[in-house]
Amino acid sequence: MIFCGNPGLQYLAHKAEIDEAISRVLESGWYVLGEEVKSFEAEFATYVQADHGVGVGSGTDALRMAIEACGLEPGDEVITVSHTAVATVAAIEQAGATPVLVDIEPGFFSMDPERVAAAISARTKAIVPVHIYGQTVDLDPILAIAEKHGLRVIEDCAQAHGATYKGARLGSRGDLGCFSFYPTKNLGALGDGGMVVTSNPELASRVRLLREYGWEERFVSHVPGGNSRLDELQSAVLRVKLRYLDQDNQARSQIAALYNSGLASCKVVTPAAREEATHVYHQYVLRTAQRDALKDHLRESGIAAQVHYPRPVHLQPAYQGRLTVGSGLSETEAAAREILSLPIYPGLSAADAETIIEAVQAFAGCDEGGAPR
Ligand SMILES: *Cc1c(COP(=O)(O)O)cnc(C)c1O
Repeated sequence: MIFCGNPGLQYLAHKAEIDEAISRVLESGWYVLGEEVKSFEAEFATYVQADHGVGVGSGTDALRMAIEACGLEPGDEVITVSHTAVATVAAIEQAGATPVLVDIEPGFFSMDPERVAAAISARTKAIVPVHIYGQTVDLDPILAIAEKHGLRVIEDCAQAHGATYKGARLGSRGDLGCFSFYPTKNLGALGDGGMVVTSNPELASRVRLLREYGWEERFVSHVPGGNSRLDELQSAVLRVKLRYLDQDNQARSQIAALYNSGLASCKVVTPAAREEATHVYHQYVLRTAQRDALKDHLRESGIAAQVHYPRPVHLQPAYQGRLTVGSGLSETEAAAREILSLPIYPGLSAADAETIIEAVQAFAGCDEGGAPR
């Protein structure tokens, strides 16, 4: 079976360096928030063109603390999308704010700036654009809306490590950028991890307080904080993998290019890529009205295609009927019925990609030869 991700392959590809990093930490005797974390924070912040990085326990915690650092009060509204990982919306609620959901641009599956403008209220305090599947949201209009209304922008970059928009790395244009290092992300740890990046020193130090009991120095709590720390082992491993991130993203792009040309004349919609941006293909997402049948057909051919995500957040049992909807969500609901993610990860062989292309072609009906678009 070919699965959608394969994080074990990346360990094997860099085994000697990762093993060395792990031994170094084991022998150091220092396991939480030490020199490895500090170095990784600096290296990752530099990579995404931000001044500060704060390592935390997960991508969800990164979002929650980034929102908390903006000083929101109960009833304050945060505009985001329903077409995302549940974590995005969960983090807004955990931070004590009210999520307001808007629809997506169907071509790119990302937050529609016009819907954002229409959803602004007197209680709106922040916008959380989600760079879904490894491709940027159309950021400029969203940043302009935020500037006009004095709102914070917190980028959810959990699927977009290394992607760019008009030459800038995602995570560097908003007030804060939030990353996850869950094992299957483009930069993945051997467990959980996350980071908040920002070039605002005040926001950086607030997140730093929040991640560890409100401490600036040990044992003195300046604000009521919790515990969401990044550990030394994960940081040491992530430092190795960060050195290969561009190469790994390149490998994902090459697989996407094979799919694009192999499926160009098939009756499926291949993913569009924005101009003036780089797509890092966290997922390669097709669109077809026969989604469920195609998924079953692929499974019978040994290919475990998945749906990201089958149910928008506003239709999840935990949220249904109680979330504030800031626009119609018909594009979100239509996408959830029609999207299918093909396997894509560094190390997926050209032969496997060919097997996948042939299986889709056999189902979807293509013109001879599959002329590249
Ligand atoms: C993975 C993900 C998160 C959450 O990250 P965790 O590290 O799993 O907590 C948040 N938002 C998006 C868009 C994600 O894909």
